[in-house]
Amino acid sequence: MSLVVHKYGGTSMGSIERIKSVAKRVAKWHAAGHKVIVVPSAMSGETNRLLGLAKEISADADPRELDQIASTGEQVSVGLLAIALQSLGVKAKSYTGWQTGIKTDSSFTKARIESIDAQHLLDDVNNGIVPIVTGFQGVDSKGNITTLGRGGSDTQAVAVAAAIKADECLIYTDVDAIYTTDPRVVAEARPLKVISFEEMFELASLGSKVLQIRSVEFAGKYKVPVRVLSSFTEHDIDIAVESKSGTLITFEEDEQMEQAVVAGIAFNRDEAKITLRGVPDSPGIAYKIVGPIGEANVDIDMIVQNIGEKGTTDFSFTVHRNEFKKAMEVLESQVRPALGAKEVVGDDKVCKVSIVGIGMRSHVGIAATMFKALADENINIQMITTSEIKTSVLVEDKYMELAVRALHKAFGLDQPPA
Ligand code: ASP
Ligand code: MG
Repeated sequence: MSLVVHKYGGTSMGSIERIKSVAKRVAKWHAAGHKVIVVPSAMSGETNRLLGLAKEISADADPRELDQIASTGEQVSVGLLAIALQSLGVKAKSYTGWQTGIKTDSSFTKARIESIDAQHLLDDVNNGIVPIVTGFQGVDSKGNITTLGRGGSDTQAVAVAAAIKADECLIYTDVDAIYTTDPRVVAEARPLKVISFEEMFELASLGSKVLQIRSVEFAGKYKVPVRVLSSFTEHDIDIAVESKSGTLITFEEDEQMEQAVVAGIAFNRDEAKITLRGVPDSPGIAYKIVGPIGEANVDIDMIVQNIGEKGTTDFSFTVHRNEFKKAMEVLESQVRPALGAKEVVGDDKVCKVSIVGIGMRSHVGIAATMFKALADENINIQMITTSEIKTSVLVEDKYMELAVRALHKAFGLDQPPA
């Protein structure tokens, strides 16, 4: 008997047929004596549709109202799922975020959960009821409805799991596992049985879209075991098999980690590179460039400053492609004239490819293997950043798939670890 949270994504909730199938799966767990709390997303496409309606009225609508609107997608889902469960003879009860006592801050459209009053969920499961909690939302201290940002139902589910100290949070989704890399790019990509929370966190921040990054953050903070698994298996699959399928996100101290040095390869097409040429090579320069970019609310990712020559240097960095224009404008209009720099050059045909693995801490030569694999394919590296468990390179985007395939092979990810 276990206490578990099931999270179902938008695709899994995408039609009445699918919702009925989710209900049958939940009913199966319930009948087997497990205590289940369900957190579903809105039906697929619904959040976009709702926000689209608001956009038709105003391009910069009040974020409070956007949350008011977007949160309803999940409210419909929980009600439908409760009815589907009830028609199978299961006692079920739906709740919105505010009815569940999910307190957040007031950052509309990207609120953070502060606390959850989960006692009533535990009371329900102890009374044989399946509580169904809306994904993606809460309430701030003034009673405003807030949402947790796109993809936020993952975070809601993990937060609920943390609050009730669930044995596991099962994230049922349209992929059957976390893979060594995107199987659409590398046919040999393999599903991982386990991945450490730190690796998952890096992969999520580097562009893997399977889990919202905050959900991984939450899992790490509260040590919630999270499993990513398919919602498209037969709903009556044996629970013993189902509960071992997919990928379990574990903590490093757990013995059962696969011992590959590199766990996975992430890539991200959202980068753009900007270079400021001929800036004076003197103290405070980095600050004078990066400062105004930050003030314009643009995040900087990778940075490279070249060795100075004859008193000047080149300074390059990357930003999200959506903010490329804005960053270019700030540099052209403010920074270049202020510094007397020669020119600003932009390039949005770049992408970032990263290798991630906690094994990198204890193994040397990983970067060398990476750079050799890219060199062998004649791929030029434009920038490099490293951290303890990842190395990222910026390359021309037409080489992205080639780079990912070459690295996947070079690190032996095509083969299961020994
Ligand atoms: N429905 C929300 C979205 O589409 C939240 C979620 O599905 O996780 O972003
Ligand atoms: Mg999602």
